[in-house]
Amino acid sequence: MKIHEYQAQALLKEYGVPVLDGIVASTPQEASDAALTIGLPVVLKAQVHSGGRGKAGGVRVVGTADAVAGAAEAILALTIKGLPVRKVLVARAASIRAEAYLSLLIDRAVSKLVFVGCAVGGVDIEDTAQTTPEKILRLELPAARRGPASPQEYASFAAKLFAEPSLAGAVVPIMAALECLFRARDCALIEINPLAVTADNALLALDAKILLDDNALFRQPGNVALRDPDSEDPAEAEARAAGLTFIGLGGTIGCMVNGAGLAMATLDTIKHLGGEPANFLDVGGSSSPQKILGAFRIILRNPQVKVILVNIFGGITRCDDVARGMLAAMQETRIAVPLVIRLVGTNEQEGRELLAGQTLTVARTLEEAAEKAVELARNS
Ligand code: GDP
Ligand code: MN
Repeated sequence: MKIHEYQAQALLKEYGVPVLDGIVASTPQEASDAALTIGLPVVLKAQVHSGGRGKAGGVRVVGTADAVAGAAEAILALTIKGLPVRKVLVARAASIRAEAYLSLLIDRAVSKLVFVGCAVGGVDIEDTAQTTPEKILRLELPAARRGPASPQEYASFAAKLFAEPSLAGAVVPIMAALECLFRARDCALIEINPLAVTADNALLALDAKILLDDNALFRQPGNVALRDPDSEDPAEAEARAAGLTFIGLGGTIGCMVNGAGLAMATLDTIKHLGGEPANFLDVGGSSSPQKILGAFRIILRNPQVKVILVNIFGGITRCDDVARGMLAAMQETRIAVPLVIRLVGTNEQEGRELLAGQTLTVARTLEEAAEKAVELARNS
């Protein structure tokens, strides 16, 4: 689960990481008022669930009171990576001497928590990682601990990250705080970029990105409270409310499948045949017609979808239920894109009979269904 920068900053602060206090504003007037309270110069930052705000014009340093409202208005009018900006964080602008990078994440390949650091951070960190990977430092930590970590564990990583001993010394308690926060709040990622060295030689977390583990939300009511439904992909939010698992993928073939494994296999097959799936959608085990109808609505929200592939392997899911849901969907909305269906398993015959006479392409196997869908997507 993604949270906003200002929420991440608040978590960092709670664990003792130095951050700049800010005020969140929703209007240019609120931003002006906030700047008066904070004192100039201020930095205005778009609050969206996306990185790359700096490059998109979503981060501006403003030196005069007159300019704050206009800059806030410009940022609030932006859409960054498809996400409309609704809030802007106003914080005292830091005077930066250098920008480093520090993150803590789960490395599944080694089943450990790993600190990743780089002395040259900032908006071009991806390029640095590509062109000079030797500049990226790693420190592996045990996946679980009984007691607190000892600061010694971080010392040699810290010394490689900052040649200056005072800065190396200052990053050690920051690393300890990040590890503590990560474990206590079930994070999936904490990323500070930039970890700024200020003009007076202090370290400051100028930007913070935190991902929270969705699978741990049941034991983290405090994390659930950080959810901002306004900032989430509306299709994903609607799917969650309808009990469906949905992830948008950007291609042209809408997919409706029962079971996560079969859904993955369907996406792989489409890709293998040269197509691009528009989404992952698992309608789950026992699919009522109502759920199928909901799934169609969500897939059809996306104007990029050129064909819908329905792949159902009926077990607990009954093919006639799926067929009824499809009929309801066809009645409710005129489905303007071609449909390819593969229905096998429980009540397959009944399902087919219900759908007889409808304009759709029927396939027997997954390969055949994917081939037809890819072809239809290509020709439309
Ligand atoms: P991102 O582009 O979404 O990662 O947004 P960041 O918050 O990291 O900001 C991008 C860049 O803006 C940073 O790398 C800094 O160079 C600059 N920036 C951010 N905050 C400040 C600030 O308080 N003062 C100054 N001078 N620059 C800042
Ligand atoms: Mn950043």
